[in-house]
Amino acid sequence: MLIIKVEELKSERRMLRIREVLPWKTFEFRGEPHKVLQPVTVDISARREGQNIIVKGDSSTVLEARCDRCLTRLELPLKGKIEAIYKRYDPDKKPIVESGELKDYENVIYYSEDEIDLTDRVEESLLLEIPMKILCKEDCKGICPHCGINLNEHPEHVCMKTSRVRANKSRFSILKTLEL
Ligand SMILES: [Zn+2]
Ligand SMILES: [Zn+2]
Repeated sequence: MLIIKVEELKSERRMLRIREVLPWKTFEFRGEPHKVLQPVTVDISARREGQNIIVKGDSSTVLEARCDRCLTRLELPLKGKIEAIYKRYDPDKKPIVESGELKDYENVIYYSEDEIDLTDRVEESLLLEIPMKILCKEDCKGICPHCGINLNEHPEHVCMKTSRVRANKSRFSILKTLEL
């Protein structure tokens, strides 16, 4: 369970440790579910500082993905970092202006419940690790734009489809000149 019970962190000296293997079967990114090949594991610690709960930890998994260039299935290992500060939100009071250490944390989240759910933090930490371009290898040659053949497996490929298209075109232009 990725839940922190705020009450369990009453004392500043206590630290909560969450070590879990999450039962997620798929993980969604780029608007599509991706198969989880190696379970998502988390190791998170939480402690209190005044009214704030400071959360730190790691996440890791291996997802199934496809190469953006050649569409080959591949394994995408991800190692995420979790770092967030939860500030008590009191609807009756205006939020206190941040000072000192708080500024070091980019991820400031307000909580008002007695429980803090860390699911979003884990998802976030993994999403941040997904590269802009997923490639099976740095120099992936991709696929032939005409017939879709994998150019990594067929580096000498000369596409018959384009030559046929070209041949048709030239025949057509000959006809045109003949008509004139
Ligand atoms: Zn590729
Ligand atoms: Zn081709």
